[in-house]
Amino acid sequence: MIITIDGPAGSGKSATAEQLAQRLHVPHLDTGAMYRAVALKALQDGISAENPDQQRIGQLAIAIDLSFDWNTHPAKVLLDKRDVSSDIRKPEVTAIVYIAADNKVVRSELVRQQRQIAAQAGSLVTEGRDQGTLVFPDADFKFYLDADIKERARRRLAELTRKGIATDPQALLADMQARDQRDKSRGVGALLLAQDAIVLDTTAMTLPQVVDAMVKIIGSKSNG
Ligand code: C5P
Repeated sequence: MIITIDGPAGSGKSATAEQLAQRLHVPHLDTGAMYRAVALKALQDGISAENPDQQRIGQLAIAIDLSFDWNTHPAKVLLDKRDVSSDIRKPEVTAIVYIAADNKVVRSELVRQQRQIAAQAGSLVTEGRDQGTLVFPDADFKFYLDADIKERARRRLAELTRKGIATDPQALLADMQARDQRDKSRGVGALLLAQDAIVLDTTAMTLPQVVDAMVKIIGSKSNG
């Protein structure tokens, strides 16, 4: 069974996907982490906003040694066999992740890896921007999470504060608006609402409420 969860940054995808996967006893794939890992590799290689070497970043994605350790919750992200789960969330990586996400070679390589992971896992909860539209158009269940941008920015600020990363709220809101715009207008792999996706507006919902709603929908449809 493949379950896709797409939506903009801060809509609650990661936490929801993680908890839903645990409830269903299946792995959770965070595809944003894969774009972030390519961006981290690119940073290490000297790629920056000033030097966005498109050809090089494509080569890096094709050669990347990227894997997940599913024994922990959430799964650990391993780049060159090293745990980079926290490094990929750093602001300097977030700042250039668009270079990886906008690159067609990077996208096709990561989409290939995502389908391979799904084929090996059999069942998967996978989250990102293009999972229900492009990567798994035949998924058994497709969810699209959304929330008011101010609420999404508030959640992201709380998350960064918890991690001890100092953040200017105004700059964070502006950055989120810019990321939404980029995610929605990308030539390939854009954030779109799949025709057959179930939309959940999480603005006024708690995390358990969102997960419960999904479990209910999956249960009712799975039982005919
Ligand atoms: O979800 P997260 O914010 O960690 O994703 C990092 C970046 O990767 C996003 O800004 C988005 O542009 C990109 N992304 C993507 N396609 C996906 C998942 C993430 O383009 N399937």
